[in-house]
Amino acid sequence: MTIGVLALQGDFDAHRKRLEELGAEVVLVRKPEQLEAIDGLVIPGGESSTILKLLGEEGFEKLKEFVRAKPTFGTCAGAILLANEVENPKQVGLGVLDVRIRRNAYGRQLESSIREGKLNSAPIEMVFIRAPKFERIGPGVEVIATEGKDPVAVRQGRVMAATFHPELSTDTRVHQAFLDLVSATF
Ligand code: GLN
Repeated sequence: MTIGVLALQGDFDAHRKRLEELGAEVVLVRKPEQLEAIDGLVIPGGESSTILKLLGEEGFEKLKEFVRAKPTFGTCAGAILLANEVENPKQVGLGVLDVRIRRNAYGRQLESSIREGKLNSAPIEMVFIRAPKFERIGPGVEVIATEGKDPVAVRQGRVMAATFHPELSTDTRVHQAFLDLVSATF
């Protein structure tokens, strides 16, 4: 089982470390053709508009095909890229997760913070950095983590997304959940 981490911009190396700690074989994906050799993909946090630019047209189209066929996990900017609808400002997405997501939704006071949330009702540390918020969750989307009343991680079929950064905490449960998803569809 080989997991790709999209490595155009953002904190891809932290994802690589977490996944390797869990025994996964990881490749950093920089070229569209590398998508053909992986069983699952992580799209890291960073700046979603920059990642879009760096993908270019060909990269975007190849990625669109990939996320429809194989398990993908997006964190923060990655979650924004997976969404059907993006606000603040509007932005195109891969359209594979039936949610409306609002970029930079916590305002300046809470630009970044570490809070405790719940993953499948168990407490877990969550690192938020200029985080987006899910504003609408489609009927086919399951909420797997919450912070206060907010849904902060979701799953729809083979697609998982989190508005926080599990790769920046030492806890590996969220990455393990993604690897379980990849194994189940392997
Ligand atoms: N604010 C970023 C965006 O809108 C996301 C921040 C992050 O990935 N930590 O793309």
